[in-house]
Amino acid sequence: EVHCRPLPGLGAGQGDAVFVSFVDLTQMEQAGQMRRDFVANVSHELRTPLTALMGFIETLRGAARDDAKARDRFLGIMEAEANRMNRLVGDLLSLNRVESEERVRPAKRLDLGTLLSSALATLRPLADEAGVELNLTVGQDPVEVPGEPDQLRQVVVNLVENAIKYGGAGGSVDVALTVLDHDAAMRGPAARIEVTDHGPGIDPVHLPRLTERFYRVDSHRSREMGGTGLGLAIVKHILNRHRGRLRVDSAPSKGATFTVILPR
Ligand code: ADP
Repeated sequence: EVHCRPLPGLGAGQGDAVFVSFVDLTQMEQAGQMRRDFVANVSHELRTPLTALMGFIETLRGAARDDAKARDRFLGIMEAEANRMNRLVGDLLSLNRVESEERVRPAKRLDLGTLLSSALATLRPLADEAGVELNLTVGQDPVEVPGEPDQLRQVVVNLVENAIKYGGAGGSVDVALTVLDHDAAMRGPAARIEVTDHGPGIDPVHLPRLTERFYRVDSHRSREMGGTGLGLAIVKHILNRHRGRLRVDSAPSKGATFTVILPR
């Protein structure tokens, strides 16, 4: 935005002058717009299960009142919808926390091999249920990085859960940890975690937007799978806090590889 006004004290014949000041409103407007979009998205995401819950309460009070079988089925759906709201609120709180901590660098050191083994152990039942083979490749030596254990665990869980949910049809999900003596982007020693699935993959047009809050390639599938649309946004902010990076390589029907690089 440009403000123009004549300079005071300049009379006729003394020439014309204007005082010009630049105020860049675009950034402020963008931030405001992003906040409004976020609130609108959250409201929509919460309202969808809430509307379903209200509908089923109504039905249970009326038509399904004396039908034990229908009542059971509806209660099951209501439970799933309540769980979805619970997951969304949990993810919103996680996102809020990691965003606000972004400037604070983690001080502890942890071994990524141990963290991967224990995170994958908790995901095995999910993989078994989906008929997915979960493979982990780590070396013998510890791979230490400065990091917040709960947060880096969340990164691994979110990526592997997605690989199982969206790429599980490919049969296996492979997780590998590699030590890098020198990574150009990290400007020093680093660790690399790769999560690879052999599922339908992601069209390249979607890749730049994957870590945006609530961005989904296929909304229907994400909801069906219980996704909140916040998983990769949380991953991005946790990695920012750890000075790490996320890379996605994928193409339709070629599966997907999500690569995390962390400085050592
Ligand atoms: P969601 O809660 O929907 O899973 P995420 O932020 O974790 O949200 O992921 C965003 C979207 O990226 C997902 O909705 C899905 O469409 C896509 N996606 C993530 N991981 C994969 C994958 N391994 N294969 C295919 N698509 C994926």
